[in-house]
Amino acid sequence: MTSLDDLPIRDNLRGLSPYGAPQKHVRVALNVNENTHGVPADVADDIVASIAAAISQIHRYPDREFTELRESLAGYLNEESAGAGLSAEQLWAANGSNEVIQQILQAFGGPGRSILGFPPTYSMHSIIASGTDTAYITGQRDAEYRISPETVVREIARTEPDIVFLCAPNNPTGTPVGLDTIEAAYDATRGLVFVDEAYAEFMPTGTPSAVTLLPGRERLLVSRTMSKAFAFAGARVGYLAADPAVIDALRLVRLPYHLSALTQAAAVAALRHSAEMLARVDEIKEQRDRIIAELPALGYSGWESHANFVLFGGLKDPHATWQRLLDEDVLIRDLGIPGTLRVTAGTEEETTAFLDALARADGAE
Ligand SMILES: *Cc1c(COP(=O)(O)O)cnc(C)c1O
Repeated sequence: MTSLDDLPIRDNLRGLSPYGAPQKHVRVALNVNENTHGVPADVADDIVASIAAAISQIHRYPDREFTELRESLAGYLNEESAGAGLSAEQLWAANGSNEVIQQILQAFGGPGRSILGFPPTYSMHSIIASGTDTAYITGQRDAEYRISPETVVREIARTEPDIVFLCAPNNPTGTPVGLDTIEAAYDATRGLVFVDEAYAEFMPTGTPSAVTLLPGRERLLVSRTMSKAFAFAGARVGYLAADPAVIDALRLVRLPYHLSALTQAAAVAALRHSAEMLARVDEIKEQRDRIIAELPALGYSGWESHANFVLFGGLKDPHATWQRLLDEDVLIRDLGIPGTLRVTAGTEEETTAFLDALARADGAE
């Protein structure tokens, strides 16, 4: 048996750890921000029928341009962000937004190039940076994990990155990022501004998405995912809205036929039911706000969240409390931020199970 260190692995991968949220079979899994409500039966039936129809042509390669899916995604975003006026040429999709991000860094990052990120943020951003040999530079946030326009401009001037990464709302803190900050970042750099909007659907109703900033900004890239709002984490569908020239750049690095015919059929079917899926998003937002409202009575405080999870603080020993909850079959996330843990909003029953187990865990400072 040899070890990884003995192999001629690339220098910038030496000593790194893979993405590693524990995957455990538990009664209440609230650790990776999945949509706990699942896909409703009528939507599932439509998806199954669409996959069955796609199977009849499965001996052929899929549409390399996933045209119908891009049209469906443009229609969905235009409905949500009236006036965005997106065309299918401005949409791209891949196996999860993680693959979209990897393709962006393959095309626009790489050796000698850098991205500016603002930890604590989504760990995959820096992991994909390593995988593509792109330098990851750490920016400083303001108090309460916010990023003001002045701060983003200052950090861009200080670090001169090729790509600015903003996670809006931010994972794992739930913090919103104002459109004024995104505009200021755009105006302060000659490079790209990438906005990860994985949780956009969970923002307060009426909050504008960065998609509305796209007209006239050819260096702005906005990614979304079906993993969260559409309860599609297992299907792997993420997407990007950007200038058609950006999409052309991604065509240079994608593997041919990267989106299977089954994935395309499933996603198009799910998007037909966006109204029903978004109604469930409202239920999840209620459970999120319930967590924030009930934490103080237990001795903790949650940060304001525009996503489907809550980061909460006031823990004596976060890892000990994480373990106490796991002993009760409730799995949440310890991201190593001192004094804090993160919990995904669940169904009403799951959220109750979490709050009850937390009350018994007695872990407040
Ligand atoms: C969950 C999440 C994603 C989703 O990734 P997929 O590959 O689409 O499943 C992307 N960005 C952030 C910040 C996330 O939290």
